[in-house]
Amino acid sequence: MRIVLIGPPGAGKGTQSALMAKKLQVPHLSTGEILRTVCAEKSEVGLQAAQYMERGQLVPDGMIQEILFKELCSPACEAGYILDGFPRTVPQAEEFDAWLERRGSSLSLVLEFRVTEEILLERLADRGRVDDGREIIRKRMQQYDDLTHPLLEYYKDRGILHTVHGGVGSAEDVFAKIEQIIENVS
Ligand code: ADP
Repeated sequence: MRIVLIGPPGAGKGTQSALMAKKLQVPHLSTGEILRTVCAEKSEVGLQAAQYMERGQLVPDGMIQEILFKELCSPACEAGYILDGFPRTVPQAEEFDAWLERRGSSLSLVLEFRVTEEILLERLADRGRVDDGREIIRKRMQQYDDLTHPLLEYYKDRGILHTVHGGVGSAEDVFAKIEQIIENVS
């Protein structure tokens, strides 16, 4: 299965994607993590990407797509994958669909993690990560609303969008809901 996760930072995607990856036996790819690894390598593309990430901006589409699509072609991703962080915008989703189509492939499922802003702020404050200053959090949320929300409409129109409420119940409760959705589409 090829699954895309969509949700604001702190919505529980990390926890749930680990559980999903284990159940489905496919890799979980987080573009944030992939980019941080590339940055740490201090290659030319890594240094460029770091300049955007430090400012809380998205890296250019061409850059993330080049890095990610290469990864998606690896044998590890043959049986599917769980993507977290890409696509982030409608143009990225369009590019991704075209790329999949060229390979005779398509997405199985898009999972939206919905959670109230109150819970999000609480969770992000608890995490206290260095790059999670208040201003950065605000920026990332604004970015999510501006760019990512239209993505939901995009996938809804294609009939593959499913929503889970990430702030309701325990991690196990949320996962049980996700398992149901997966069973219904497979
Ligand atoms: P995490 O939640 O693990 O910190 P994010 O998904 O927020 O990861 O990504 C961290 C940073 O990486 C973003 O602020 C952005 O600069 C860059 N990034 C991640 N995914 C994308 C993407 N699809 N398009 C552009 N930039 C991205």
